[in-house]
Amino acid sequence: MCSDGETVGRFAPTPSGEMHVGNLLCALIAYLSAKSRGGRFLVRIENLDAARCPQSAEQKILDVLGALGLGGDGIPVRQSERGDVYREKEDVLRKAAKIYPCFCSRAQLHAAEAPRLGDGGIVYGGRCRGLTADEVSALFAVKQPCYRIAVPNKKITFCDGIAGIVTQDLSRECGDFIIRRGDGVYAYQLAVVVDDGESGVSEVVRGNDLLGSTARQIWLAGLLGYRIPDYYHIPLACDPSGRKLSKSEGDSAAEIVAKFPPERILGSLAFAAGILPTDRAATLSELTAAFSWDKVRRDAIRLPAYLLQN
Ligand code: GLU
Repeated sequence: MCSDGETVGRFAPTPSGEMHVGNLLCALIAYLSAKSRGGRFLVRIENLDAARCPQSAEQKILDVLGALGLGGDGIPVRQSERGDVYREKEDVLRKAAKIYPCFCSRAQLHAAEAPRLGDGGIVYGGRCRGLTADEVSALFAVKQPCYRIAVPNKKITFCDGIAGIVTQDLSRECGDFIIRRGDGVYAYQLAVVVDDGESGVSEVVRGNDLLGSTARQIWLAGLLGYRIPDYYHIPLACDPSGRKLSKSEGDSAAEIVAKFPPERILGSLAFAAGILPTDRAATLSELTAAFSWDKVRRDAIRLPAYLLQN
């Protein structure tokens, strides 16, 4: 898991709603990992889908992170301002892989009965990959397509700091995936790779619901000539009995921060993650000194009940 050079970590929330205590846990671990290696920690606002990401939600996230000392080094990058960079990188990708318009409707995609991806998406069967130029221009008259990148028949293997060795088959398990939506908005998979690559991110710490995206991102990063970061997919947060939290469960991070002192929250999160042996208040610098990946739980991270009361 050793990359050469400077350590750069990041936390990349999507401000489509309230930040929850599970997100805080992720932000804290990403911060501690980077800082314990003497590195930088960046915050990136993943507001690609501007209509779903109100400015108020973004501000709330930044306020919560700031209150806990997790606001990041430098000014947060906002994906909504980076369309030109994504466009430029799409052009680079066009030289390395086939990018094609896809006119399939949701109903057509589902009717194809392709196997489901872990993240709920479907594996695209390639229906539009072989359209002729005439077919494409006829379809353009009816519909704005999204754009997919054709994946090779290739397996990607990587060593995740938590999940261990993971192999994913691009064509069988991922399929040709969307890099730009029909409304012109760039897709998460492209934006995340470009932003991590352009800001020199050396380690990606995030919830293990994104493990299934990693092979696609490693492949894209390779095509774009970026360094491949180390990955740590942390277990999702659970309640004290080990039951996975639903999205609506637990106080919003903003409510927690309003109710308890920062050191109390940080100490409890660190204890739940396995970084501290007891549940006590702790500062970020104490936690940075105490942090090591060996301590971080591989199984469910059980949060204390007091952070989960609605
Ligand atoms: N923006 C994504 C989310 O909030 C995280 C992306 C990432 O960490 O790669 O789920």
